[in-house]
Amino acid sequence: MICFEYINDYIRQTLKPNTGILKELEAFSKENHVPIVHPEVAALLKVIGLTLKPRRILEVGTAIGYSSILLSTILEPGGKIDTIDRYELMVERARENIKNAGLSDVINIIVGDALDVLKCLNKQYDMVFLDAAKGQYPEFLPECLRMLKSGGLLVSDNVLYKGMVANDELVVRRKKTIVTRMRNYLKTLCSMDELETSILPVGDGVAISYKK
Ligand code: SAH
Ligand code: MG
Repeated sequence: MICFEYINDYIRQTLKPNTGILKELEAFSKENHVPIVHPEVAALLKVIGLTLKPRRILEVGTAIGYSSILLSTILEPGGKIDTIDRYELMVERARENIKNAGLSDVINIIVGDALDVLKCLNKQYDMVFLDAAKGQYPEFLPECLRMLKSGGLLVSDNVLYKGMVANDELVVRRKKTIVTRMRNYLKTLCSMDELETSILPVGDGVAISYKK
């Protein structure tokens, strides 16, 4: 938790709760300790997504398909999502959830290591949601930017990683490398002329970058 707990609690109690499959998947995630975006990040994705009106979304990190299904609600009619994950068991779950949501034609899961998959992809996207191995964000970045249209948004999740990215005293030893890489990632995002980036202490930290 990178924000005062009482504030997060208040926000979570106040936001409009999800219904249907998203609600079911929230319960599943809690029971099985599978990561999904935090509620306040989900709300942010929806609001910026509805403003952006994307037709093509690329997601890195599918897990059980929760955020893909969420992002499908902001797509323009006829829009599509490509989502990448390397973890077979998760992908199976995601496939089933997406099918149950009636979204098999909208959400395309690509199985494999994101770095390999990204290098092979050659499409253009209005929005990229980066939510996978945090230590790999610097490597994912050039590929994501290559495929992000100008006027598009790159949204990176977990960029403050439990606060560790902002404070050395919080860094546990085995996370040192990830933290160093994430700091470099944020520095790069903020130093690029082609991007305008905002870093928000929402959820586990979210960076929103607009490509000029
Ligand atoms: N976006 C999801 C949660 C993703 S959790 C949601 O909010 O619902 C992170 C996922 O990224 C995990 O399922 C993990 O298997 C996947 N992942 C991490 N590193 C990856 C990599 N290098 N290539 C492909 N998938 C990766
Ligand atoms: Mg995340």
